[in-house]
Amino acid sequence: MDVARIASPPFGEVARGAWLAERFRKIGLNEVQTDEVGNVLGIHPAYGNRYVALSAHIDTVFPLTTPLNLRQQGSRLYGPGVSDNGAGIAAMLAIAGALQAAGIGHALPFLFIGNVGEEGEGDLRGMRHIFATPRWNDGIAYNIVVDGAGSETIVAEALGSRRFEVIVRGPGGHSWSDFGAPNPIIVLSRAIDEFSQTPVPASPKTTFNVGVVRGGTSVNSIPESASMRVDLRSTSSSEIDRLERALRDALDRALQAENDAVASNPRRPHLVQAEVVEIGNRPAGELASDARILKVIRAVDAHLSNAAQVQRASTDANVPLSLGREAIAIGGGGTGGGAHTLQEWFDCSGRDLGLKRILLTMLALDGIGE
Ligand SMILES: [Zn+2]
Repeated sequence: MDVARIASPPFGEVARGAWLAERFRKIGLNEVQTDEVGNVLGIHPAYGNRYVALSAHIDTVFPLTTPLNLRQQGSRLYGPGVSDNGAGIAAMLAIAGALQAAGIGHALPFLFIGNVGEEGEGDLRGMRHIFATPRWNDGIAYNIVVDGAGSETIVAEALGSRRFEVIVRGPGGHSWSDFGAPNPIIVLSRAIDEFSQTPVPASPKTTFNVGVVRGGTSVNSIPESASMRVDLRSTSSSEIDRLERALRDALDRALQAENDAVASNPRRPHLVQAEVVEIGNRPAGELASDARILKVIRAVDAHLSNAAQVQRASTDANVPLSLGREAIAIGGGGTGGGAHTLQEWFDCSGRDLGLKRILLTMLALDGIGE
């Protein structure tokens, strides 16, 4: 509840980061630090030179102005961000605290990361920065991402997405007196029509969406601009690349058709132009079926009699998975719901299962008992 009371919108995670760094210090982690982008790191030391990392994102989807009215009813907590990712942050602190309190020795040091920028426009910037930092990129052997509540899933496939804003601009004009001038809405519509006929495979599952269309000022004006927002998704990077090419080709052809008309029509003296702006890029990837991290968590689940399913999602694990590294995303235990809404809740009943699961997976990855 303490952490969920600190607003942490994308690009506004400073206060929550400071809170987390203080908690890392109180627990007694070594080398507690906040990096250039706001990720908070701490180490539970050991003698090995590679790390088992446990990370939890500290940003939320809620704007700074959202009222953070947290309340408790029995074992249930209510409030924005209480589960996503209050549950994950609390689980990370619980694991660090348990290691310290019980004096558990292990071979590889454990790296704890409270990272920024998981949600929406954050576009995984926190994890990207971690894996662009040589010490961590070379050092992290395994990465467990704790995101939200639950203990029944293992995200081992990274759903990739690429998002674009496409803006078409023309000279505009009066619908009567400038008739014949190129119309950006019509160009955009032609591009959408062609792009939307692009075939996609069922496997690897690949999708596209035109989610927002804007443009024009009045019914009797030829618009000066029109824009759309497009979302491309797949578990395969090459499929996303292919969809991006199809989108750009469809747009080029629609522009070409409109601009070709200029030469033959004196009433069309101005060309129409387009700009394609990338507004999101989450890399795709998946864990090899013989990956050690998958074997370990499956063994832990068998030991705990926990039935868990492998899933595909877009999480912080996209970054290491896209680099061919061993990573999974799992929940912090308990149950939760209403993520990304003001009615979000978290119920801590049975969360010890989720915490044991995380701790045992870290210790087993570390090589204890091998
Ligand atoms: Zn989350």
